[in-house]
Amino acid sequence: MESIPDNLAALRRTITDAAMAAGRAADSVKLIAVSKFQPVEAVEAAIAAGQKAFGENRVQEAAGKFIPLRAKYPDIELHLIGPLQTNKAETAVELFDVIQTLDRPKLAEALAKAIRKTGKSPRLYVEVNIGHESQKAGIAPEGLGEFLASCRVDHNLTVSGLMCIPPREGDPAPCFQRLKRLADEHDLPGVSMGMSADYPAAIRCGATEVRIGTAIFGGRPPA
Ligand SMILES: *Cc1c(COP(=O)(O)O)cnc(C)c1O
Repeated sequence: MESIPDNLAALRRTITDAAMAAGRAADSVKLIAVSKFQPVEAVEAAIAAGQKAFGENRVQEAAGKFIPLRAKYPDIELHLIGPLQTNKAETAVELFDVIQTLDRPKLAEALAKAIRKTGKSPRLYVEVNIGHESQKAGIAPEGLGEFLASCRVDHNLTVSGLMCIPPREGDPAPCFQRLKRLADEHDLPGVSMGMSADYPAAIRCGATEVRIGTAIFGGRPPA
């Protein structure tokens, strides 16, 4: 826990360096601290060190930790970065500022309904299965245009970015470049890519948000 402020400071330096090296402004990259499986004390240590944006994978876990934290720290920003079941869409819409894992038509429909019902409007990112991996969630790159059109036309949803998790093996840079190109093609400003192991490469390829867990908080039990 005592190393969290140091880890954050080191990350911010690396993020700034990678952004500058790519000719980008340091503040064009947002650091999302991924706090899944981490205790509230660890989140509070990060908040004390100036961290504002957090990412969680599970709606239930996020609600347990962040509803109380939100009351205490109103300017926290919370991102959902894990898979979302349609029956939790309403809870997710009420809890998260950004939902990064819009990955199928049924979920678009459920989110649209939840947004109408609650009056909340979280920013939405579409998850893209950038490496065409059968075990991974996400819209296939070839189907993205059609899916975005359906979100807009059929569900009146505004999508503001794309998110991806590249294959575990191999160089992630081509995947990052592909996601950035897709975002540009569709005029989407948000590009969420890069984790502890590969965020400098993601920033060089145009990431606007990097999602970092272990490099801030240390290890966690396997999912
Ligand atoms: C867990 C997770 C992260 C953070 O991974 P680290 O390797 O710990 O930085 C980022 N994005 C998603 C979607 C995750 O599930």
